[in-house]
Amino acid sequence: MSASQSYESICLPIEFMNALSRSQDLNETLNLISYWLPKIIESDRASVCLGNRPDETLEVYALFGNNAIKAKTILPVNGTMVGRVYQSKTLEIQNNLKESEDLDCIRLYQGGINSCIDAPLQKLDNCFGTLNIGRLRENAYQPQDAILLDCIANWLANYLHSQMEISVQKRRAETDPLTETSNRRCLTSVGNEMFIKWKRDHQSFSMIMIDIDNFKRINDCYGHNAGDQVLINFSRAVSKVIRKSDLFFRIGGEEFVILAKDSEASISKHAERIRKTIEEMNVQYDNHTINITISCGVTTVHSDDETLECVYCRADQALYQSKKNGRNMTTIVLAQA
Ligand code: GH3
Ligand code: MG
Ligand code: MG
Repeated sequence: MSASQSYESICLPIEFMNALSRSQDLNETLNLISYWLPKIIESDRASVCLGNRPDETLEVYALFGNNAIKAKTILPVNGTMVGRVYQSKTLEIQNNLKESEDLDCIRLYQGGINSCIDAPLQKLDNCFGTLNIGRLRENAYQPQDAILLDCIANWLANYLHSQMEISVQKRRAETDPLTETSNRRCLTSVGNEMFIKWKRDHQSFSMIMIDIDNFKRINDCYGHNAGDQVLINFSRAVSKVIRKSDLFFRIGGEEFVILAKDSEASISKHAERIRKTIEEMNVQYDNHTINITISCGVTTVHSDDETLECVYCRADQALYQSKKNGRNMTTIVLAQA
């Protein structure tokens, strides 16, 4: 098909066009592209790479077909063909990968690929990634294949760029700008999803509500900027001590929530580990060493809970008990069976 494909016109599957128009999500769009590309330009593998400017790396985000370089692989910009295409914004065709010294080409060759083309994905002169295809045999691609891929990359770049923008905006809307933790809006959506899963699949979860003790005094003694620094250091320390599966949110000024998969048997211990970490933390600010403590309120979801709000209220009651009983402690309140 590729050798006889005229580059004066492109034949695109209607199913692909429809799926692309309907796709609401960046990952879905990336997967659609890598799935359909080999059906438009005959290929044994297709992938999309997206650039990561500060790191000068590219990540393979979607992949279809031959697995010589897997999805999620991080490739350096320097020393790779894909990196050169990304930086120069110019398509490259390599029909004899055995001869190449580029890192990605070596890996492709080792994985059975002998020909490839990488095309830049760009919007308003800004290259944000590459579209890549490969074939098992040598000398598989003709100049018209390159023209076709370049044209498809230019067209798809619009879809990808607008979805990347949407996902950046979405992340921003769900992130607290000071501490870079997830915000209350995110807690509502993620927490409600967890609650639905609990009702449907009985995947239990627990909530730890945290409030920094006497935080107002820090602002009063050292100033608001010092208070901000404490919030930042606190969030970093908690992020380090929690597990990958835990979710951490800033829900208000100096109030935070953790959602964890723990049952009631282990959640208090987890909260205590966090409390002790914070008790031992020092924050250096303007020649001052600032120490803080936190109070924690803990609860676990229960079959009588009708909404996430019920769990939230219990965690709040438990936190209130910790404050009332002297602060710097953890209290658990469970639902009455
Ligand atoms: P308690 O132990 O009872 O929780 O006492 P507290 O002083 O921590 O609680 P209170 O609610 O009296 O004060 C919370 C303070 O947190 C008041 C507010 O100015 C401060 N605060 C809220 N958000 C921020 C912020 O983003 N930065 C700084 N620096 N302070 C904040
Ligand atoms: Mg508070
Ligand atoms: Mg407080």
